[in-house]
Amino acid sequence: MTAYQDFIDDSYIEGLIRAKQPEPAELKEILAKAKLKRGLCPEDTARLCNLQSPDLLNELFETARSIKKDIYGNRIVFFAPLYVNNFCENNCSYCAFRESNTLVARHSLSDCELVEEVKLIQKQGHKRIILVFGESPLSPAQVISETVRKVYEIKTYNEVGTEIGSIRRININAAPLDVEDYRIVKSAGIGTFQVFQETYHKETYKKVHPKNTRKGDYHRRLFSLHTAQEGGIDDVGIGALFGLYDWRFEVVSLICHARSLEEHFGVGPHTISFPRIEPAFNTAFVNHMPFKVSDDDFKKIIAIIRLAVPYTGLILTCRETAEVRNEVIKLGVSQIDAGSRIGIGGYTEAAKRQRSADKEQFRLGDDRSLNEVIDGLLAEEYIPSFCTACYRLGRTGEHFMEQAKPGFIKSFCEPNAMLTFYEYLLDYAPAETVRKGEELINRLLPGLEERIVETTRQRLAELKNGRRDLYL
Ligand code: SAM
Ligand code: SF4
Repeated sequence: MTAYQDFIDDSYIEGLIRAKQPEPAELKEILAKAKLKRGLCPEDTARLCNLQSPDLLNELFETARSIKKDIYGNRIVFFAPLYVNNFCENNCSYCAFRESNTLVARHSLSDCELVEEVKLIQKQGHKRIILVFGESPLSPAQVISETVRKVYEIKTYNEVGTEIGSIRRININAAPLDVEDYRIVKSAGIGTFQVFQETYHKETYKKVHPKNTRKGDYHRRLFSLHTAQEGGIDDVGIGALFGLYDWRFEVVSLICHARSLEEHFGVGPHTISFPRIEPAFNTAFVNHMPFKVSDDDFKKIIAIIRLAVPYTGLILTCRETAEVRNEVIKLGVSQIDAGSRIGIGGYTEAAKRQRSADKEQFRLGDDRSLNEVIDGLLAEEYIPSFCTACYRLGRTGEHFMEQAKPGFIKSFCEPNAMLTFYEYLLDYAPAETVRKGEELINRLLPGLEERIVETTRQRLAELKNGRRDLYL
């Protein structure tokens, strides 16, 4: 494993975030840079973190909305999380799965249970999942890769025998691996590998991750996605758990992390996640959180990250309530989950109208079904996407970024959103959603780049005639 230089200079970042609010002229300059869509440096990012006055904040939000619209259009990509086990030998103070939490019910999905969970996810209409693992001898690279292979093989068919349910992209959220183990996981055909640093602030990191645990090693985690790149995983996802330390420190650090990956591998993170700490079963930590992030600050976090790394996917989960989600999607989020269950066996329990809080990692804020979330998005003219084309055509890592920048998202992602959403309408949606969805597709279709309108129209017709899995 290569030795990397620590890219988090705590005292430098502390200095940056203690600066005063930028003057209007300075803000204009930063926003003008952001509009060029080449990203922002940590120094400019820190200045934005100190904006307070409502007028200036409105300018920030307006810029974030317009960058989001320019790059991503009105498309939102869907995924579902699948928790494979909740055995963990770490002791993160904020997490219900920590080893010392003896009240939590531990379980690892059997093969039959895995099939049942995946089929229920497919039945909702999902095509993309993230498999989540604790850190334990039960989740070595071999188990992760075998689970991935098994999930790809699970299919569901309609009454005329057409394959309508399959998982087409599997991402992973698990503990850091070493280079060889990343290779093993990569060989199973994964999309993104996520590791969240939780907090980039070293003192805080030490407090919440005991030293005698594997996660207690700050630098192992800090460089874990550099190591993933060495192991051939070119789509990596970074993240911070907001509420552990000053959110401004974490935002600037995320940008430093993105830059370090870009410097070393020519490509930054594929995605950034910004979960806020949620109440968790038998976990007192959440009752005294001096750095708890308010909804107003959460909006700032998303808008600032959107400006600082315009082409990186931003992931928002069901930890947040429907109201918060509806609002921050406009500011820059590109991927969301829906219909999620985060207990081990949670989809099966939900199907039986049960819920065991003692198997869940934390509490969810948005428990609407996938279709309810889609109905809400359609009302705002968003087009839901189940697209997995880039990863399947090898448009990942550096190749993805090269193509993403000159308007690629518009020419591929928008038609593919329409095609995969249409599949959803044909196979899973209730009549009223079908009506609204078809209306939206018909309205948006002529607005695609001229050279792809006809091809997209033809593919939509082929889907209607029973073909599946078509993309550009
Ligand atoms: N065990 C692996 C790890 O910690 O990297 C991956 C799985 S862990 C279940 C996934 C993420 O959940 C963690 O990285 C952390 O950011 C988040 N998490 C843990 N406790 C949480 C809580 N109480 N509220 C919200 N998110 C939480
Ligand atoms: Fe384990 Fe991850 Fe929870 Fe920490 S956050 S206790 S590593 S599952």
